[in-house]
Amino acid sequence: MDADEDVFGPALARATVHAQRWLAGAGDRRVPPRSSPAEAARAVAAPLPEGPTPADVVIDELAALAEPGLMTFASGRFFGWVVGGTQPAPLAADWLVSAWDQNVGMRAMSPGPAALEDVAGGWLLDLLGLPSGSDVGFVTGATSANLTCQAAARDRVLRAVGWDVEERGLAGGPHVRVLVGAERHVSVDLALRYLGLGVPEPVAVDDQGRIDPVALGAALAAGEGPTIVCLQAGNIHSGACDPMTGAVAAAHAHGAWVHVDGAFGLWAAASPALAPMTAGLAGADSWATDAHKTLNVPYDCGIAVVADPQPLRRAMGVHAAYLADFQEAADPVEKTPEMSRRARGLPVWAALRALGRSGVAELVDGLVAHARAIADGLAGIEGVQVLNDVVFTQVSVAFEDDERTRRVTARVLADGETWMSGSHWRDRDVLRVSVSNAATTDADVERAVAAVRRAAEAV
Ligand SMILES: *Cc1c(COP(=O)(O)O)cnc(C)c1O
Repeated sequence: MDADEDVFGPALARATVHAQRWLAGAGDRRVPPRSSPAEAARAVAAPLPEGPTPADVVIDELAALAEPGLMTFASGRFFGWVVGGTQPAPLAADWLVSAWDQNVGMRAMSPGPAALEDVAGGWLLDLLGLPSGSDVGFVTGATSANLTCQAAARDRVLRAVGWDVEERGLAGGPHVRVLVGAERHVSVDLALRYLGLGVPEPVAVDDQGRIDPVALGAALAAGEGPTIVCLQAGNIHSGACDPMTGAVAAAHAHGAWVHVDGAFGLWAAASPALAPMTAGLAGADSWATDAHKTLNVPYDCGIAVVADPQPLRRAMGVHAAYLADFQEAADPVEKTPEMSRRARGLPVWAALRALGRSGVAELVDGLVAHARAIADGLAGIEGVQVLNDVVFTQVSVAFEDDERTRRVTARVLADGETWMSGSHWRDRDVLRVSVSNAATTDADVERAVAAVRRAAEAV
């Protein structure tokens, strides 16, 4: 190879062209993919190439093959599942993370990015009002963050009864009780399954899906032994946050570890207007959240926060003799399930650097304002009932009966002007709106409401 040759330039230039074109067109494009999953699979099927192809040609081909099957998550009228958009600074930072290709598992391998991730972690604790000195691990998403935090919880609650789970495993050990709100996210159960903790015990919730602290206290009193309680900040159907103060007090009165799944709802704590909803949050022992949802950084970015670093590092650390060697500035590898990993904390740093404290509050408040506007707009459509108190980014509505809700939902999705999820909540089929993208504008809200009105009039 010629030393002067720009090896990466042609492919990166093509990637830039495709990326800019995709993003620039997002506002006006139909939201759903042009191809169905089956069509997409047929269109891209190909045998393994027998030999090499130039990188820029590969990138052009990739864009051509993938684009018909892309959902426009970047659209301000995409309200499906709970999927954030992305902003310029974190997206560009994510490109640099790939170009630098650092392995940030150990400080000595990549001191600059590791230090910047520490800064991002400190900023997050400050912003969300979590205890300073907590360990922050940058993981792939909230599922992995739930796993990471619950592994620390498992260590601590078993150690408290004299059982070293890292050394002895679970077999033959004391049973660990796990109590959850009846409307916890499925990923909480998934993480418990990975950890060998089985299916959790559901506790009654109110009409917004919030755990009932009195029922939690009664459930705790009805059993004994090592116990983990998983609370929730941000119910996917109502956006509601569990009553933290009462629930944390009930759990701690029984010596339980309190974990909070706040994949998207933890960010209410970053808004002075919304923070009262999360009062008492800081009293928990661990918190899981996503940066790739409410904060609007690119995908592959979850955050695990554990107040006491010791159980986390015992659970995730690589040094068997860790306890003898506890260091303040642990290597990142001590705080996450991964060993080698990309510097996924840098897009978080870039997002927080670009927005600042006031910018994050405005981002979150803006999502909530748009959710309220959508709820108001939908409530004006004949036959629509808004089922939740719109306290955050989520809106769940139903039509006269399940059959009609399903037909309107199908019609909305076929129309393509907007995308919302069909779901099931409190024994009813619902049309669910999640406002998670900073790109959403007032005009997007109007167009989305008009699309639902059109669908309702047509079926
Ligand atoms: C999305 C979500 C999760 C899972 O997060 P991933 O980033 O998909 O792993 C967990 N809990 C809640 C409440 C969520 O909304």
